[in-house]
Amino acid sequence: MLSELDPLMDFRCPHCAASLRLRRVRRQPGPEGRLVCPRCAGELVERRHPAIANNWLWSRFYLPGVLLCALGIFLPSLAWLLPFAVAVLLLGFVALLIYVVRERWGWKRYAAPDSSVDSGGH
Ligand SMILES: [Zn+2]
Repeated sequence: MLSELDPLMDFRCPHCAASLRLRRVRRQPGPEGRLVCPRCAGELVERRHPAIANNWLWSRFYLPGVLLCALGIFLPSLAWLLPFAVAVLLLGFVALLIYVVRERWGWKRYAAPDSSVDSGGH
């Protein structure tokens, strides 16, 4: 929803290079509902990052830390794991933050329909 405000993403039209960040990209009437650029009327495809549909792509960063913490908490014999588990958890969150920033940096929101960088989803 707030992705229009995302400073890292690239909102340029693949046809005319106009920024579509604050422009309303219209959906044409009809069953296909194709997106068109409001400036050059070129056809657009909205590209969604695979991590939006696949939680594993980002949750894998902190899940090992969560699992280790759970082991340390629920198994008294593994309580010595806890400091290590918390460190792994914190490192996981840092890695997740880096991943989120790096993946969005320059991510092209719109592509031409016949472009090879299409997300593949329809
Ligand atoms: Zn355009």
